Amino acid sequence: MSETDYDVVVIGGGGAGLAAAVTAAENGASVILFEALKELGGSTALSAGLFTAAGTSVQRGLGIDDSAEKYFQHYMDLNQWMLKPGLIRTFCEQAGPTLEWLIDLGVEIPAKISGNAHQPGLCQAGVEDVWRGHVPKDQGYGLVQVLDAARRKHGIEVVLDTRVQALLVEDEAVVGVIADDVALRAGAVVVASGGFAQDPTFVDRHYPVANKAGDSLFVVAAEGSRGDHLRFADSVEASLAGDGWGLMLPTVYFQRYHHWQSGFPPKSRIYVDADGRRFMDEDASYAVSTGIIDHRGGSAWIVFDENARLNLAAGYADWSAERVAEESDAGRTLRADTLDDLAELMAVPVATLRATVARWNAHLPRGEDPDFLRHRTLKNKGNTVDPDAIARGPFYAARILPAELVCTHAGLEIDQNSAVLNVRGETVPGLYAAGEAGAGVLGQRYVGGGNAVANALTMGRIAGRSAALVAVGDQALAI
Ligand SMILES: Cc1cc2nc3c(=O)[nH]c(=O)nc-3n(C[C@H](O)[C@H](O)[C@H](O)COP(=O)(O)OP(=O)(O)OC[C@H]3O[C@@H](n4cnc5c(N)ncnc54)[C@H](O)[C@@H]3O)c2cc1C
Repeated sequence: MSETDYDVVVIGGGGAGLAAAVTAAENGASVILFEALKELGGSTALSAGLFTAAGTSVQRGLGIDDSAEKYFQHYMDLNQWMLKPGLIRTFCEQAGPTLEWLIDLGVEIPAKISGNAHQPGLCQAGVEDVWRGHVPKDQGYGLVQVLDAARRKHGIEVVLDTRVQALLVEDEAVVGVIADDVALRAGAVVVASGGFAQDPTFVDRHYPVANKAGDSLFVVAAEGSRGDHLRFADSVEASLAGDGWGLMLPTVYFQRYHHWQSGFPPKSRIYVDADGRRFMDEDASYAVSTGIIDHRGGSAWIVFDENARLNLAAGYADWSAERVAEESDAGRTLRADTLDDLAELMAVPVATLRATVARWNAHLPRGEDPDFLRHRTLKNKGNTVDPDAIARGPFYAARILPAELVCTHAGLEIDQNSAVLNVRGETVPGLYAAGEAGAGVLGQRYVGGGNAVANALTMGRIAGRSAALVAVGDQALAI
């Protein structure tokens, strides 16, 4: 080798890192990828792999007319135009081609309607009017397998179990990395080290709202989500974006696992606020559900009856009939023989809770929810059986609150080429970032399901191409 050991070094072997590495190799670069853990995959491999994109072959296969322009408008409106339009425009334009690239590599997404993030096909991701949630076969694990196969085909070297310690910086330019105390020189470096959900200090500093969950807080992000991108920032005076933003999912206070393990709350349930009133579609997408609960003071009651408890599917860690009984025996979940007694325990007005349940019983169990239109959400999820009335004691109430920390959005500010910006708004020579490490695409409102995987793979692909073009000497960036 000449003065560089590799054209491109990629830090992190999740979705963003693998997409960057493969794309850099496709653009003629020699690439090496470091992964801190013993296996590739990160949070991407744990995910459902749900991917939001517009104007795709999957949508066309279902006769759905969509475009990057519509996606862009929805994305910006949902985020109240607090994100940089130029960056979001690029993301929305490139998400579709990135999905097609994945399909060409071998990812299977059938052109059929899917009721949820676990059935391959196209589902309603969030609150979009045109469905954009692409669910791949074998989910996030499948995405990683396909990308890893492409990685092997290109002969890209992977160094597992090796956590990059620092960036190698000379004259304010990034010229490589330090790993295992050894300096490795490169034409460009892509930081794809994921988020910081597993580092409580960074959560305190950059996403403190997560701590409002108190003892109920639990983190499902991958073990490697330790915020190393934030540790790298000072060495290049990097600008940070996305502070205070991330994805917390509403869960019952006793839940400790993502729903694949924890199970699901009963369909025949309502959410009730401190006044004893229903206030939302209980099945609303987490694009908006966390925000709605936050607006009601940060928590609410989930109310259901004995039938609902007994009908919980067996075999799950948290949402099981036995677990609810245990929590009730311990007094942590409220239980009462009558609704009036339950209202007393909840400290909500008795007459209001009675009226709330009566209105529920008169409507959605008979097919329609005129207040919150939950019947539409249930139908879009493929549901064909109406929920039951809340009628058989004992009755239950438990706290729900945003407590499941999935991903974090604060990271190294990037531009449309995934180039990292410094605090003066200039690009840092030689440095690119993507996924949770590269900030600016994931905003206050999560546009999906499917926002974060789309971000990781789309911006990872852009980062890989930009890094390769710079490293192999072609400055005419494609995007
Ligand atoms: C349970 C779960 C379900 C989810 N479901 C979805 C979904 O369906 N759709 C969606 O859009 N989003 C989903 N998300 C979020 C989404 O998966 C992530 O935001 C996204 O995959 C992050 O990709 P990434 O490449 O940035 O990070 P990761 O996939 O986490 O990869 C980062 C990698 O970098 C490694 N690393 C860290 N530091 C270093 C270092 N210093 N040196 C070397 N390696 C390092 C880590 O070990 C890790 O392997 C889900 C998340 C979870 C946890």
